Amino acid sequence: MDKNACFRNIPKVDTLLETPEITALADKYGREVAVDCIRGRTESLRAFISESSDMAAIQRRMDSLVSDICAAAEKLFAPDLRPVINATGTVLHTNLGRAPISAAHSERMQALVSGYSNLEYDLAAGARGERYSHFEQLLCRITGAEAAMAVNNNAAAVYLVLCALGAGREIPVSRGELVEIGGKFRVPDVMAQSGAVMVEVGTTNKTRLADYESAITENTGALLKVHTSNFRIVGFTESVSVKELCDLGAKHGLPVIEDIGSGVLIDLSKYGLPYEPTVQESLRAGASIVCFSGDKLLGGPQAGIIVGKREYIAKIKKHPMTRALRIDKFTAGALELTFEDYISEERAISNIPVLRMLTRTPYELSESAARLASLLKGANAAVAIENCESQVGGGSMPLARLSSKAVTIKPNAITTAAFEARLRLLPLPIVARVTEDKVLLDLRTIPDNQLDAVAAGVMKALE
Ligand SMILES: *Cc1c(COP(=O)(O)O)cnc(C)c1O
Repeated sequence: MDKNACFRNIPKVDTLLETPEITALADKYGREVAVDCIRGRTESLRAFISESSDMAAIQRRMDSLVSDICAAAEKLFAPDLRPVINATGTVLHTNLGRAPISAAHSERMQALVSGYSNLEYDLAAGARGERYSHFEQLLCRITGAEAAMAVNNNAAAVYLVLCALGAGREIPVSRGELVEIGGKFRVPDVMAQSGAVMVEVGTTNKTRLADYESAITENTGALLKVHTSNFRIVGFTESVSVKELCDLGAKHGLPVIEDIGSGVLIDLSKYGLPYEPTVQESLRAGASIVCFSGDKLLGGPQAGIIVGKREYIAKIKKHPMTRALRIDKFTAGALELTFEDYISEERAISNIPVLRMLTRTPYELSESAARLASLLKGANAAVAIENCESQVGGGSMPLARLSSKAVTIKPNAITTAAFEARLRLLPLPIVARVTEDKVLLDLRTIPDNQLDAVAAGVMKALE
């Protein structure tokens, strides 16, 4: 068959619509979808015929046209965003959705999201309420703040705070804190967008209190401190503590804003993790406003949480951008549940998945690794238990390496790269690291109730 014959042999839309498979497809998803998929697949078949000189391959594509059309329609309606198993050991993996919410919380969220709720309704008063009211008191009790609110994420929180407190005013900030967080969030750019005028003080490695003081003018609106979450300056360095900055702010009647990044509410250094400043410490030092992420070390939903003095929070709540950046009922519900767990440190560590994973003991990790390895007996691969290092991720604690345990797998019959790809393409995908030509499954981020699923996935991918 020559190419012209191939083109002629492509069935017409109406003919394809009459095949039993595509008739069934049109019944299921509607005629319009069926016609769109027919057009899409026949066009790509035409392009393939023009470009390819492999007649056998062309014939195969012609033969599979109807099933390709059906597959295209099924793919359109198949759920695409779905659970994956995080075997990378990176606890706050931004590409994998950062902090997971506990099963107990998702159960409690179910009733909330499938029906109506009192999101903005004050049941006692029978009148309009505030969406922050469900967690505001709790959060104030935990952090010692006077008032609190939340927006879409911490990038939005920083932007909003600068809009509300800094637009048209000068805001001094240390040159050592002009950070870029992943996804194009850059302090100077956010500042410019907010309408605040950034006044850089100090140098990259050294900023002193006198640098801030000499930058203060009658146009200064606030002093800003940004936590350098995802990098560290080491060596010949000096920076100003939030306490010193707050004392300076108080002397000049200026609010101090701190973007603390990760939103740690308990001192994690007790658990062998690096020290991170807590929200409570910043407020105790006198910060007027502290903002942080909901889904980094806090371990809650994606959100930007803003806490601080009542007068400033009131001003931020009234700003027009607040409406554009507001949280929805899912987030309000998940934040309330997360803060409930922070009522005691033990409860937070045992209930919040992120904190659970970060504080897993060497004994627990070894036990889980042994269990997974034993489930993989008989696999067509070299399976071993090895020491490895996990990361915190999400731009938090960039230098921390947490010692962990991994099950490593080197397949016998396929390449390591092919095996890693197959793991990713499973119905319940497993995302893993490859080191030294072995797939490495870090147990830190695999909860025990997923070990059977991981083993089943590995066996399937080795077939
Ligand atoms: C992560 C981070 C942000 C951005 O927070 P998102 O919740 O990811 O929007 C802003 N500032 C600092 C210091 C951060 O660490």
